[in-house]
Amino acid sequence: MTKRPQEIALMAESGKLLASVFGRLDQLDLIGMSTMQVNDMVDRFIVNELNARPASKGQYGYAYALNSSRNSVVCHGVPSPGDILQSGDIVNFDITLEKNGYIADSSKTYLVGDVPPLAKRLVQVTYEAMWMGINAVRPGARLGDVGHAIQRHARRSGYSVVREYCGHGIGREMHEPPQVLHWGKPKTGLVLQEGMVFTIEPMLNQGSRAVRTEDDGWTVVTTDGKLSAQFEHTVAVTRNGVQVLTLRPGEKSLN
Ligand code: MN
Repeated sequence: MTKRPQEIALMAESGKLLASVFGRLDQLDLIGMSTMQVNDMVDRFIVNELNARPASKGQYGYAYALNSSRNSVVCHGVPSPGDILQSGDIVNFDITLEKNGYIADSSKTYLVGDVPPLAKRLVQVTYEAMWMGINAVRPGARLGDVGHAIQRHARRSGYSVVREYCGHGIGREMHEPPQVLHWGKPKTGLVLQEGMVFTIEPMLNQGSRAVRTEDDGWTVVTTDGKLSAQFEHTVAVTRNGVQVLTLRPGEKSLN
């Protein structure tokens, strides 16, 4: 489950390219755009500007460069020309990129236009929860410490954590061991070692943690129709702590 320094250097390169995709998305005015327009722009940017490959295309039979998960969609939302972003929406774009055989995976929930305070708070707490998980990563720490840090912040903020989907090891394959749960008990689970690379990608719900998959076989929604938010980074365990391989331009680690 550990990677050599040369492999981690290649993954950092993939991560940097993926971070630049979000840098590009940050510049867009999303109001009135369809999620398919965003998908097509991201696809072209990855292929033409970055000379890389959108790793989700063709994986598990999926046809697109990203997942777009809006409002009560928890994850795996499918871009569509009829899915038009409106002021007040929150929308997560989850993107994977492969360069030189190595894959990076990251997602960000965007605020579209004028978003109500309660929705903004969910997005902010989800971002903080991801960072609390990241900050628990170091050699000798355990995966239960990571999950617990995330769950604790969600719970004390009044939110639930989705359990059906988790973070994952990543490298030449998009999904490798281990599974990285976003809840757990301290001092339990896999002991982290230098050279492990995995994602941390908590999904927090405003209401119940219960989810269901729609008839398209992809789109996962909250059963109560309340909002869900998600953030994701790909991280490597270093000698002393953690390196966030998908850190975005201008993004600072939250302590
Ligand atoms: Mn992922």
